[in-house]
Amino acid sequence: MSYDVAIIGGGPGGYTAADETAGRGLSVVLFEADMLGGTCLNRGCIPTKALLHEAALGISDPALLRKKRDDTVSALRGGIEKLMKMRKVTVVHGLAQITGPGSVSCNGEAYEAHDIIIATGSIPSIPPLAGADLPGVYTSNDLLEGAGIMPRSLAIIGGGVIGMEFALFFAQTGAAVHVLEALDRILTPFDREIAQRVALHAKKRGIIIEASAQVQRIEGAPGEMRVSYTSKHGQPCTLFCESILIATGRRANTAGLFADGAAPELERGAIVADELGRTSIAHLWVIGDARARTVQLAHVAEAQARNVVACIAGAEPPVNEDLIPSCIYLSPEVASVGLTEDEAEAQGRAVICGKALTGANGKCLIGGSESGYAKLVCDAKTHAILGSQLVCPRASDMIAELALAINLGATAEQLAATIHPHPTISEMVGEAARAVCRAAR
Ligand code: NAD
Repeated sequence: MSYDVAIIGGGPGGYTAADETAGRGLSVVLFEADMLGGTCLNRGCIPTKALLHEAALGISDPALLRKKRDDTVSALRGGIEKLMKMRKVTVVHGLAQITGPGSVSCNGEAYEAHDIIIATGSIPSIPPLAGADLPGVYTSNDLLEGAGIMPRSLAIIGGGVIGMEFALFFAQTGAAVHVLEALDRILTPFDREIAQRVALHAKKRGIIIEASAQVQRIEGAPGEMRVSYTSKHGQPCTLFCESILIATGRRANTAGLFADGAAPELERGAIVADELGRTSIAHLWVIGDARARTVQLAHVAEAQARNVVACIAGAEPPVNEDLIPSCIYLSPEVASVGLTEDEAEAQGRAVICGKALTGANGKCLIGGSESGYAKLVCDAKTHAILGSQLVCPRASDMIAELALAINLGATAEQLAATIHPHPTISEMVGEAARAVCRAAR
């Protein structure tokens, strides 16, 4: 069987690539070892957000939580399956292996393709920690698929995005949550001010966060687990809890993907590629979490998919991959795009910042939002918007306006000249822009 393009992996990167490829009139085969939708849909973004949404409404009944999660996931998966059918994408369910240039084998069948796109995603990365494989120790996969768990007490190892989103969810269901982070603060890829704000809100919900904690070992059995660690001050400590979640990052899912001699250049299992997604082997491309040094986000995988497929079709890449919004689904939400004030200053750029507070926004007050802000970072001379950080309700929906503004080279004045409807949370963006204009006068 011969196709123009073979895609391995049916997550947001893979199914977007299949959709784009078919849309450009090329024949496409998509291999998926498990279910369409990948990590994001089946055991990542979507189930987490479904659970967080229900928990915020005060629902803690495990059966109701599971139902919301499973109904949402299957509705979306059904949509992807329909889209693939409509686009006439050949979907092959099975574990595919690249056997040589343009050659893939799956379920004992051989497939040929002019181009191959790898979109196999990532899997939780477990640190070499004694006891990390004990029953009672979970990864986000275990919590987001099947029966899940509902512990009354939980230790979370890793204060990144996954760790903090789960900390909030379990705290909302009434569990005692203790986060152990190895570095000197949580959420290190985010602005320090954001991390401080998140830590403050977490504390108010009873979540304990310990930074600079060096975890040594895990012992015990489900329901009676122990984590031994050294605290910030070098004190040996033991934490007792029912369950443990390991959320210490994710690594490229490439084990077994290549037959002997068929692998491109790899870096700790991740596939090395240039900025266009080209690997060291001609006509072999990689998108999403399996790519080395990428930002592991579903919307980045989708952007890379659109760009790689355009390159295969001989067109210009349509998406600007330099500007990546990121969101954390906490309460209030967090979203960030472009440069932070610290980053701009580290680059030696003079900036003017403007801020609007949730306390002065009608819609935030009506919704009972916790304290937060919208911040704009602008070039001191031109007032061009360089970055924005939002800690407020609906931040994840509002950040797209700022991404667009930065992409179009808009200034604070142009943002301030745009009417933001009242009463909305988006008024904070207009307010922050006016704060920049005032500071610049
Ligand atoms: P992460 O890299 O964001 O955070 C992992 C954290 O664990 C880091 O702070 C790290 O210092 C800490 N850590 C590592 N080893 C440790 C140890 N032995 N003891 C204590 N702490 C340790 O990874 P993640 O939270 O697992 O998320 C994985 C990826 O998925 C990230 O790229 C993330 O951005 C993405 N993701 C994004 C969203 C979202 O956009 N809302 C949600 C979930 C996941």
